[in-house]
Amino acid sequence: MNSVFSRFGIVLTIATVLAVSLVSPATAAAKKLNVVTATTDLAAFAQEVGGDRINVESIAKGYQDPHFVEAKPSFLLKLRQADLLVVVGLQLEIGWLPPLITQSGNSRIQVGANGYLDASQFAEILEIPQGSITRAMGDVHPLGNPHYWLDPDNGRRVAKGIAAKLAEMDPGDAAYFQQRFQDFDRRLTEADKKWQEEMKSFRGRKIVTYHNSAPNFAKHFGLQVVGFVEPRPGIPPTPSHTFDVVNMMKRDNVKVIMVEPYFDRKTPDSIARDTGATVVEYLPSVGGVKEVATYFQLFDYDIALLTKAFQGSQ
Ligand SMILES: [Zn+2]
Repeated sequence: MNSVFSRFGIVLTIATVLAVSLVSPATAAAKKLNVVTATTDLAAFAQEVGGDRINVESIAKGYQDPHFVEAKPSFLLKLRQADLLVVVGLQLEIGWLPPLITQSGNSRIQVGANGYLDASQFAEILEIPQGSITRAMGDVHPLGNPHYWLDPDNGRRVAKGIAAKLAEMDPGDAAYFQQRFQDFDRRLTEADKKWQEEMKSFRGRKIVTYHNSAPNFAKHFGLQVVGFVEPRPGIPPTPSHTFDVVNMMKRDNVKVIMVEPYFDRKTPDSIARDTGATVVEYLPSVGGVKEVATYFQLFDYDIALLTKAFQGSQ
């Protein structure tokens, strides 16, 4: 009897091992990490490094002003199912994301929890204010400029940070994420060489931007941002400020105004008429238009528009 039982036991054990080994690939597939990002650029980085081991979705659309996103019930559903939430940080999303995180009731992604990742920690941040911080003047950049993803070097840093986080949450796929990051890094270095070459003859050019969203971009490509259509970040144009901008642009011979697609063209168009400048409707984010679906296409698109505008104003 004993031998029968023990043999039966061995058979059971083998069957269990077989069953587990047969089931495990399916289980692994079902256990894809659900990554939700605040913006499309962060989703693009997560997709680059996460590949097919994650599901990733952005809350904001690429054509929306990331400072002001209208909360929808569908966002809550996404957040409820998220294993990891990646945010831009520096209070970029303060106007819309914090209540959604709370209302999601998802303990994994609450601020400070393991599934909450502030990507700004990985990036070079410009314009960090000195002294006391106040939002009294309506400034939406109280902790430094949050549009840091528009520098490819920051894109690389953030992608690396996300890859490390994914590896921590899913150690079994750590090598996969690392390999994906290395591939992204290599392609980005190659693309950046091309972008730098295309922008080379325009280094030192002065530009005005509608919102203060391009300091990292300007630094990386050697442009000088000398003014803004907004009097302060988040504050709509005023006649007196517009008057000052027109005079400054005439004096300094500034010929390009970069405008994000979600702003009213009325004021920049009138400044352009008064100064002979060209308005470039540049994209600050992946998904700003349908054709721009990757981080690489974002720079391809913006650099094509900018170089054309610079050439036309020579
Ligand atoms: Zn901003």
